[in-house]
Amino acid sequence: MRTSMALPRALPALLILLLHTQPIIAVVRGAHVIDWIVCTVLYLLSAFGLGVGLHRYFAHRSFETSRAFQFVLCLFSSIAFGDPVWFAGKHRLHHKHSDTNLDVHSPHQGFWFCWFASIFDEGYSDEEILAKARDLTRYPELMWIHRHYYIFPVAIAAATYLVGGYSMFAIGYCLSLLLALHAASAVNYYCHKGKNRRYDTQDRSTNNSVLGVLTFGEGWHNNHHHYPGTARAGFFWWELDVFYYVLRILSVLGLVWNLREVPNRVKYDFAPSPNVKA
Ligand SMILES: [Zn+2]
Ligand SMILES: [Zn+2]
Repeated sequence: MRTSMALPRALPALLILLLHTQPIIAVVRGAHVIDWIVCTVLYLLSAFGLGVGLHRYFAHRSFETSRAFQFVLCLFSSIAFGDPVWFAGKHRLHHKHSDTNLDVHSPHQGFWFCWFASIFDEGYSDEEILAKARDLTRYPELMWIHRHYYIFPVAIAAATYLVGGYSMFAIGYCLSLLLALHAASAVNYYCHKGKNRRYDTQDRSTNNSVLGVLTFGEGWHNNHHHYPGTARAGFFWWELDVFYYVLRILSVLGLVWNLREVPNRVKYDFAPSPNVKA
């Protein structure tokens, strides 16, 4: 979800509240098995779009792909209101200013801002965001999604309602969106708190093994801040990184290539050091 438009301050809270109430109402009124199946499928596609698409591809360019599959990744992320141009710009600002007052989301700026409010307004103008994503603004199809980021997700939400009624809309779409948003916010929040820091990066990033499993690898966040340009977040065999395994399968199928690995000199460099920039 994104918007850098000036919004009334109460609107994010109202939207978040409305989104949370829909699945609860649907469960009380009675949901169907198919609603939960749609929820699972949309959540998995969204998570893949956000983690592999927005984060590892568009923000960090940690592997290469065709222009067609690039747009497929864009569409998957768009299920949960993702916008590659905006996300890449915003996320690169996160790596540049991690855990300072200029960060776009840090737990040290407060729970509400980090978890919810920064989804709607991260404190930067559209021009400042676009300036960090010049490599993506040259693609007309990505800029079209940037300007109309709401069309695809609203169409999917409408389709769930037309096919399965209110319960499929509330469980199938709203709940899958909520899960995707909470998973992303949990990484933004919990992976910049705590003490599980293998690498002495200049920020406060941490590895969180629970989130590492729940978010398909995105929770190995201290690893990621140590070397953001790699296609993998789990650096060692015991760090489950489902998204990396999926990328390996996609590379065998020829859909992606040139996955950037972690050089041993980086992997075993535990000395205090400046971050390797994205
Ligand atoms: Zn981070
Ligand atoms: Zn990153």
